[in-house]
Amino acid sequence: MPRPRKHRRVCSHPRCTSFKPCGGDGQVVSMTLDEYEVIRLIDLEGLTQEQCSEQMEVARTTVQAIYASARKALAQCIVEGRPLQIEGGDVHFCEHHNPSCGKGCCRWRNSQSGNEGINIE
Ligand SMILES: [Zn+2]
Repeated sequence: MPRPRKHRRVCSHPRCTSFKPCGGDGQVVSMTLDEYEVIRLIDLEGLTQEQCSEQMEVARTTVQAIYASARKALAQCIVEGRPLQIEGGDVHFCEHHNPSCGKGCCRWRNSQSGNEGINIE
């Protein structure tokens, strides 16, 4: 019996979901929103895999697996000159700003102004 897949918490949608290399036009590489979030948290925000797993509310082994496939997708893009499309994945978006979210969170602006309940784009 398959175990239900747990939704991974993601701070916000990427600003840009589609990337096209100059000169390259290979087959599109897809990246899910949870893969995007792991790259953002670990490679950009500098979180450890442990911190990342807490932030996304998944097991650390899950983060490792997501990170590995995300890195592979990025490598395929830059090495093979393929376009990238970010979409899908088992995710839910932050309902509140968490201390570990950082400024990339869709709730960050709210937490600064003290307002709650903006809509996610
Ligand atoms: Zn967040």
